[in-house]
Amino acid sequence: ISATISLPFLTHNLAVIHDQLNRISIEHNRSRPKIWAVIKANAYGHGIENAVKAFAQADGLAMLDVDEAIVCREKGWAKPILMLEGFFNAPDINLFSQYSLDATVHCRDQIDMLAGVSVKNPVNVFLKLNTGMNRLGFAPEAFNAAWQRVAALHTQGVVGDMGKMTHFARADERDSLTQKQISLLRHVTDALPGPVSMCNSAATLTPDYWLSLPDAPAQWVRPGICLYGSSPFAHLSSQRLGLRPGMTLRSQLISVRDIQAGEGVGYGHMFVADQPMRVGVVACGYADGYPRHATTGTPVVVKGVRTRLLGRVSMDMLAVDLGPVPEPSVGDEVVLWGEGGPGVDEVAVAAGTIGYELLCAVAPRVPKVVI
Ligand code: PLP
Repeated sequence: ISATISLPFLTHNLAVIHDQLNRISIEHNRSRPKIWAVIKANAYGHGIENAVKAFAQADGLAMLDVDEAIVCREKGWAKPILMLEGFFNAPDINLFSQYSLDATVHCRDQIDMLAGVSVKNPVNVFLKLNTGMNRLGFAPEAFNAAWQRVAALHTQGVVGDMGKMTHFARADERDSLTQKQISLLRHVTDALPGPVSMCNSAATLTPDYWLSLPDAPAQWVRPGICLYGSSPFAHLSSQRLGLRPGMTLRSQLISVRDIQAGEGVGYGHMFVADQPMRVGVVACGYADGYPRHATTGTPVVVKGVRTRLLGRVSMDMLAVDLGPVPEPSVGDEVVLWGEGGPGVDEVAVAAGTIGYELLCAVAPRVPKVVI
């Protein structure tokens, strides 16, 4: 088993986003939003170092873990880095200062922490407004006071540049909440200076959203999942969006057997043959990160032929229907998702989850092959 990470496809996906932002910005006679490529969670499972190489053309990177940000700097990333949840203690703030990491500040405790440190270089801050996601961020009525406190820290040299941000709860749906979130962001922050950021992949790919902010010279979008070739939308496939799979999970057949009508396959006999059939066993299970909740019918490609999963996924193995596969034998290639296989989103739907979870969950024991 292996997970092939395609740097050219990752770069291609960033170019798709970049070109679309460029084209629409030109059409509307405004500046192109800058792009933070979101590479949290080990670049959605693709590897931080791979992301640093593949997303060299991004305007910045955004992530969660300080350790991952330091790797980016050590690999030579000199452009902005945004830390999506900010810092948790004073030593973190010193690392932010040392490595030029921009902080998201979303609560009073973080302002208190900033007020209590002295830093060599001021830390840039994006102040987060809660516009309806109800996860992180200042309430609209508390935002102005928070801004004034951070502005005072700017004067004292602890904080550098300041910007504003929010996060959408339902940008992937055709839903009016997003417009309400944008209106609230504008109402609370339009009069304040500095760059503004709000769009994840779904909103970045919905130009009406970022076009409904005034032409900020530095509007930052924060696409993540689309850069890895997975669609943020249930109603629109990654192919339709022109995206390519950043990761291909491959393995091989380790067993081929014929079973009779009435025989079951795997734990619980969750699949029972209604006619004689040929069954393959693939060296890939939930300990590799393949979703155990995938059920009979989940697409899989064996020897270039699309077929289906049978029964329950085991820890190290899963079973497939070899009916459509001509002359299958042990060692034949199986693509679980990615290039030449089903899309990760198709597998995710069949397992009742989302592409994000599958990409992030590929186990450390699966070797990564970088092409
Ligand atoms: N911005 C923030 C604050 C996030 O938490 C995330 C990821 O969940 C993103 C941007 C990127 O989102 P997506 O992967 O849906 O593009």
